[in-house]
Amino acid sequence: MIPGAFEYYAPRSLPDAVKFLAEHRDDVKILSGGQSLLPLMKMRLSKPAYVVDIGRIPDLDTIAEQGSHLIIGALVTHEQIEHSALLQQKCPLLPQTATTIADVQVRNRGTLGGSIAHADPAGDWPAAIIVLDAEIKVVGPAGERWVACDDFFLGLLMSVLEPDEIVTAVKVPVTGNDKTAYEKAAPRSSGFAVVGVAASLSIDNTGTCSRAAIGITGVTDKAYRPQRTEEMLTGKRLDTQIIAQAAAESTRNIEVIEDINGSSEYRAHLTHVYVARAIEQALKS
Ligand SMILES: Cc1cc2nc3c(=O)[nH]c(=O)nc-3n(C[C@H](O)[C@H](O)[C@H](O)COP(=O)(O)OP(=O)(O)OC[C@H]3O[C@@H](n4cnc5c(N)ncnc54)[C@H](O)[C@@H]3O)c2cc1C
Repeated sequence: MIPGAFEYYAPRSLPDAVKFLAEHRDDVKILSGGQSLLPLMKMRLSKPAYVVDIGRIPDLDTIAEQGSHLIIGALVTHEQIEHSALLQQKCPLLPQTATTIADVQVRNRGTLGGSIAHADPAGDWPAAIIVLDAEIKVVGPAGERWVACDDFFLGLLMSVLEPDEIVTAVKVPVTGNDKTAYEKAAPRSSGFAVVGVAASLSIDNTGTCSRAAIGITGVTDKAYRPQRTEEMLTGKRLDTQIIAQAAAESTRNIEVIEDINGSSEYRAHLTHVYVARAIEQALKS
């Protein structure tokens, strides 16, 4: 499988990359880890005339602490996140999520920015970052903007990104004492989520849940937070019964997809099971 012919450009600076993207915006693709783009190009589902490899742009591959937040560069790989001592200490949900992505080869090449920009409805990062209320830094011809991740994803492989805009970083809060977990059901062949669930819970010193955030991927056209489930958990001391009742509401008003991995009824049931499991694992963290 060989991709169609394209012109390759590897800029050394962000302004150069943005300029090139703006000049060719109707027929250009950004290359990061290539783990999603190259298969699409080889299958001729994507046939860009120009490919901009952003891998030589400095400073996009670092993880830094800034006050109460962590700034993760777009070119940081899944593997870097998995093994980052800083993230393990300050935001353990992200390293834990990284361990569930694909295999070692994909984790070594695939990047956080590429995954987010790709907006795969079965991608793991969208579920993890929506429970953290992350912000996504985007740079384009008009300058830079920060986009709340709730506003970033629009649907199947669709986001608010313009063709001449680059995701350059993701900002997440230090999670402190919050309890977090990521649980996923996935076929061994690809590792892509049939259902993936991120949970982030704040438990106060009386044992009451003061904030519940649940992020679900693989179930519909984009990752989502089940509002009713979160409401049912908030203000309660979480026991098995409350968790099960709240989890059973996690597909309410959601158009659950069906595909070769199962019917929508099966996937909805699996979602309820994995939401409960993620909450229980988070409470143990
Ligand atoms: C066998 C296999 C199994 C996988 N399993 C999983 C899994 O279990 N979970 C999971 O979440 N993912 C999985 N993936 C996808 C993997 O995580 C990819 O790394 C990821 O989706 C894309 O990241 P990338 O850096 O490779 O991006 P690329 O493939 O380089 O780019 C993907 C898309 O995003 C655009 N893009 C890239 N970087 C940027 C940027 N900084 N700004 C704007 N646009 C950009 C590109 O133009 C392209 O359209 C799997 C992939 C493979 C091949």
